Amino acid sequence: MKIDTLVVKGIESHDNPHKAVIPPIYLASTYIQDELGNFQEYAYQRGGNPTRAAFEKLFAQVEGSKYAYAFASGMAATTAVFNLLKTGDKVLLNNNVYGGTYRYVSGIFQNQGISYEMVDDFNALTEADLDDKVRFIFIETPSNPLLRVTDLERVVRLAHSKGIKVIADNTFMTPYCQKCLNFGVDIVVYSATKYIGGHADVLAGLVATNDDAVAERIKFIQKTLGAMLSPFDTYSLIRGIKTLSVRMDRQMDNTHAIIDFLESHEGVKTVHYAGSHSREEKAVHSKQAKDIGAVISIELADGYDETAFVKGLKFFDLAVSLGGVESLICQPAFMTHESYPAQLRAQIGINDGLLRLAVGIENKDDLIADLAGALKGAKK
Ligand SMILES: *Cc1c(COP(=O)(O)O)cnc(C)c1O
Repeated sequence: MKIDTLVVKGIESHDNPHKAVIPPIYLASTYIQDELGNFQEYAYQRGGNPTRAAFEKLFAQVEGSKYAYAFASGMAATTAVFNLLKTGDKVLLNNNVYGGTYRYVSGIFQNQGISYEMVDDFNALTEADLDDKVRFIFIETPSNPLLRVTDLERVVRLAHSKGIKVIADNTFMTPYCQKCLNFGVDIVVYSATKYIGGHADVLAGLVATNDDAVAERIKFIQKTLGAMLSPFDTYSLIRGIKTLSVRMDRQMDNTHAIIDFLESHEGVKTVHYAGSHSREEKAVHSKQAKDIGAVISIELADGYDETAFVKGLKFFDLAVSLGGVESLICQPAFMTHESYPAQLRAQIGINDGLLRLAVGIENKDDLIADLAGALKGAKK
């Protein structure tokens, strides 16, 4: 089954005597057991729930993974993965990683005796950078908000030669565009709040892996930390994921049209998108992903005012997040990456003037006309 069929037809209607086309939402916190010593599959909602299990099974098929686990948010999924670490371990992350992930490593690792290092360019990683403490390499490709691309296969080869696991946060690409496990990545995490849910109405996270030992531990952590996804929220994902491919196709089509428009406009200095940084990154991205996703970032030319530009937009709401059907714009330096020290932001290139656009499914001519009007009004 191809992925666009799978998201629609792949869900199992567990135990569904009425032949409803969608699985029921099981809300029960507890389940009646047959007799002492003879317990059935479900006992208590934290440990397992039929609605969540149906989605996890579907998502594992969509990802092409042996296992998938659903969490209450993307950060809960990342937290579960970081719980595989122990005191003395070290994690390498790309330097423009999701702001919340940075907040985690910079605000929580220290108390646990775990260290971390932000890496400028994983494509330049060498064996010498991997000391004996390094246990995880955590990658977002393309990265956020500068859309830098990392060669997954290359990093995986280096990491595995030293027994290091590679984790990819694949939120921006989704399994529709990029299957990280195929390149040897050990664990994939998602904020399903974004494209998987797709409608800006639910927080959710996912962890997928082929590794039996990792899976067993993640399942234990899911049950023990208690940040699993609720039945109602799981249902929002079951509904949202059905249109993943349709939404992504439309959003990426809009994104290409918007890039063409912005790149030819004198009011725009730079347009960042997956592969825009260099020919090498473009080649790597097209090797490992199907298309460029629907997030771009831009810098306006001198003589154009960002505040007026954002104010002048009608269809791009000023809001953090991405991956919903609606177009959004935000200012990463102050809205998504504000937990980065100013010096680190400057070093990476997250300038105050950088604006990130998350392109939605609206009509592309409307979106382009909106951008054109706002640029006109932004000229000083
Ligand atoms: C939003 C996001 C997260 C965090 O997900 P939540 O669902 O908000 O907890 C993690 N990684 C990336 C790339 C994100 O965009």
